Amino acid sequence: MMSKKYPLKPPTALDPGLLLKSIHFACIKHRDQRRKNEIAAPYINHPIGVAQILWTEGRVRDIDVLQAAILHDTVEDTDTTHQELVKEFGHKVANIVKDVTDDKSMPKDKRKRHQVEHAKHISQQAKVVKLADKLYNLRDLKECPPSGWDVKRIQGYFVWCQAVVKSVSGSNHLLEAALKDLFATGAFVMKSDITSGACLHYDCVPKDTDLTEFLEAYYDAMSIAGKTEDNC
Ligand code: ZN
Repeated sequence: MMSKKYPLKPPTALDPGLLLKSIHFACIKHRDQRRKNEIAAPYINHPIGVAQILWTEGRVRDIDVLQAAILHDTVEDTDTTHQELVKEFGHKVANIVKDVTDDKSMPKDKRKRHQVEHAKHISQQAKVVKLADKLYNLRDLKECPPSGWDVKRIQGYFVWCQAVVKSVSGSNHLLEAALKDLFATGAFVMKSDITSGACLHYDCVPKDTDLTEFLEAYYDAMSIAGKTEDNC
C-alpha cells in the first residue's frame, strides 16, 4: 500500500550522479539568465529550489521527478531541445519536462488560459513538478516582486496560479496544503508612496472578490502587448 508519507513512490535507490548531471546541465543552460525579481537572483536558484521543495516539503523520492524539476525550464527558456533531454536523460525525464513546458509562440493571455486546461491532462509526475514550481514562484513573488509589478498584477498571478493548482489537485497532498495555506493567508507589502516610503499590506488572493471575474481581467491585462514575461 502506498504510504501517505510518500505520495509518489517509496524511497528508491537514488543516484546522486544523476542529480549532479542534471544540475550541471541546467547551470550551463541558464548561465546567463537572471530572475525577474528585484534582486535579479541567478536563474538557476529557481530550478534547484523547486527540486529542494519537492524533496523537503513534498517528500518526493522519485529520481525522474527530481531531475525533471532541475531541468524543467531548460526547453522553455533556453536553446535546449526535447531531443537533447531525451539523449542526455532518457524519455521519462524528458517527457515530464515536456509536460510542464509552455509554448512560447502562443500569445501570453492564451498561454495562461491554456496552462490551466492543459495541466489537467499531464502525467502525475509532471503535476507534482508544477505544484513545486508554483509554490516557489509564489513565495518569491510575495517576498520580492519584480520591479514594475503593481498590486493587481501580483494578485492576478496568485489567482491564476490557484486555478492551475486546482487543475493538478490530488497529486501531492503536502505541497497542496502549503499552497492552500498561502492562498488563504498570504499577504505582501507594497510601498504606497515612493517619497514617504509608506507601506500597505495586501492579501495575495483578494478577499470578497469574484475570482472568476478577477482572473478574466488578469487575462485581458496579459493580452496587452509589451507586458514582460513572468519568468515562471
Ligand atoms: Zn519554473
